[in-house]
Amino acid sequence: MSGPIPAYTLTRRRMKNLRMVVRPGTGEVAVSAPLRTPQREIDAWVRSKAAWIEAKQAEAAAQPAALAPGPEADALRRALRPVLAALIAEWVPVMGVPEPTWGMRIMRTRWGSCNTTRRSLTFNVELARHGYHLVEYVVVHELAHLLEPNHGPGFYAVMDRHLPGWREHRAELNGRAVD
Ligand SMILES: [Zn+2]
Repeated sequence: MSGPIPAYTLTRRRMKNLRMVVRPGTGEVAVSAPLRTPQREIDAWVRSKAAWIEAKQAEAAAQPAALAPGPEADALRRALRPVLAALIAEWVPVMGVPEPTWGMRIMRTRWGSCNTTRRSLTFNVELARHGYHLVEYVVVHELAHLLEPNHGPGFYAVMDRHLPGWREHRAELNGRAVD
């Protein structure tokens, strides 16, 4: 394989496989790599994905700007609210976490976030465009932060225990982070 290596940012993590996302909006290529994978191996992998990256970046450039406040956002919010309420009510006792406060926002880069000191969860209103299982994944992820604030081994153990298929769900939500 030859040809230029597409520009990318690299984060090293305790993980088994290389992973890549092309961020919507910016088209930025973000690569996560296991701690010990040699740089040249990462470069070669990124180069082998050049065509895919180019297609994704074209897709990202063609995407409309972030959802604007207005009737569409309101409709998504109305659709999502009862789904979130039901999921949180279901999962809080299962996971044994304290009752959080929660809300929805238009979020450009994330599907959800958790303020652990305030026990407050925030969900992206555009989750309403996705299937129930993906909303559930984001809910379980954010609730898991009430037990494990950081994305360490303890956090992933909680996810594996409660939602063994979560990695596939994360891949399906590719593009925005679940924080
Ligand atoms: Zn998280």
